[in-house]
Amino acid sequence: MAIISNDLQRKTWLEVKKSSDFPIQNIPFGVFTRPDKKTVIGTRIGDYAIDLATLQALDYFKDIALDKNIFTQDSLNNFISSGRSTWRKVRNRISDIFLNSNTELQNNITHRNKAVFAITEVEMQLPIVIGDYTDFYSSREHATNVGKIFRDPENALLPNWLHIPVGYHGRSSSIIPSGVPVRRPWGQMKNKDATAPTFGPTAMLDYELEMAFVTTNANTHGDIIKVDEAEEHIFGMVLLNDWSARDIQAWEYVPLGPFLGKNFATSISPWIVTLDALQPFKTNGPSQDPTPLSYLQGNGKYSYDIHLEAHIATEDNDFQTITKTNFKYMYWTMAQQLAHHTINGCPVRSGDLMGSGTISGETPDSFGSMLELTWRGQNPIQLKNGQSRKFLEDGDTLKITGYCENDNIRIGFGECIGKVLPAHKK
Ligand code: MN
Repeated sequence: MAIISNDLQRKTWLEVKKSSDFPIQNIPFGVFTRPDKKTVIGTRIGDYAIDLATLQALDYFKDIALDKNIFTQDSLNNFISSGRSTWRKVRNRISDIFLNSNTELQNNITHRNKAVFAITEVEMQLPIVIGDYTDFYSSREHATNVGKIFRDPENALLPNWLHIPVGYHGRSSSIIPSGVPVRRPWGQMKNKDATAPTFGPTAMLDYELEMAFVTTNANTHGDIIKVDEAEEHIFGMVLLNDWSARDIQAWEYVPLGPFLGKNFATSISPWIVTLDALQPFKTNGPSQDPTPLSYLQGNGKYSYDIHLEAHIATEDNDFQTITKTNFKYMYWTMAQQLAHHTINGCPVRSGDLMGSGTISGETPDSFGSMLELTWRGQNPIQLKNGQSRKFLEDGDTLKITGYCENDNIRIGFGECIGKVLPAHKK
């Protein structure tokens, strides 16, 4: 089935600014609470939040086989389970409804008032119930930097790294939507020279600029997913901030990996941008040497050209960009990550979230965390108001943005934002 919704000639009767992340070719999916407190599944065009539950009730999707009330839910999990051809049909239909030559909703003010809201009128929610959350570690530059900082500059990349998309199982209960503040956690840490650990609020609170993909219920327990089939089972992508407490992490991570230094909060952007919408931005990732084992080999272009930025604001200083990187720098692709994740028969379910790992590039301005940008605090970031930052301080706000752009179109992700609240007093 053709992806009609990607047609660049299409224009909508809704007003959309040229700089918008959400032209009619994007049509992401999300969950929002309306002004009357009803929570529904919707999409976004420009600065309008569109209530798909109401459009379905008004018969706008009558030609597509959909469960009744599929959009009258507070998560996308069931819709995601309906599969890629249904996602595509629904996006094509939404594109038709809002096409400037189509008057059915355009001229029906009663229906428009029921289904179309200003984005400022709605409250975005987590778009999925996340059963399992996995975080990979797939940026070679990030893994090399962290290896140099935490372990051994001579052997920064561990011997398995070029053979395995390294990952760990994270915590889904602390994943929050963009906008929810993050409280500085307490924990156990030990200075390099100290003889015993201490307990207190983290002094090294950091962000990790990542993206994540959302899966459908792809395989039954025991079955595998091949690299060249993997994207059929990926619904879409979001921005992700894997908030990290570096002092807690450095002390606890041996030998089983990240734990309390990571699982206090993970923020995601609320609109899931589908892989269909990202098709014009497919590209090749870095060449892989040594050649991966056969189960990690594929024949397609499975990387994406997505510009990514991190910006910091303090209580008295507006946002200032501190990271500029790109999703295409990732060494392992999402398709390889999903193939690896399931090669032992591990089942993947609708609404599972798979983080990319911090995405750093080669140059210092492309590093995706403060740990790398300041080299563990050695070279503080200078802010425009004269202050500096080794790590995040109370009252700071961290924002991640991401978009694809070519001469014809911009497809974006909006933002993933969170403010740091002071630690609880103990
Ligand atoms: Mn991470």
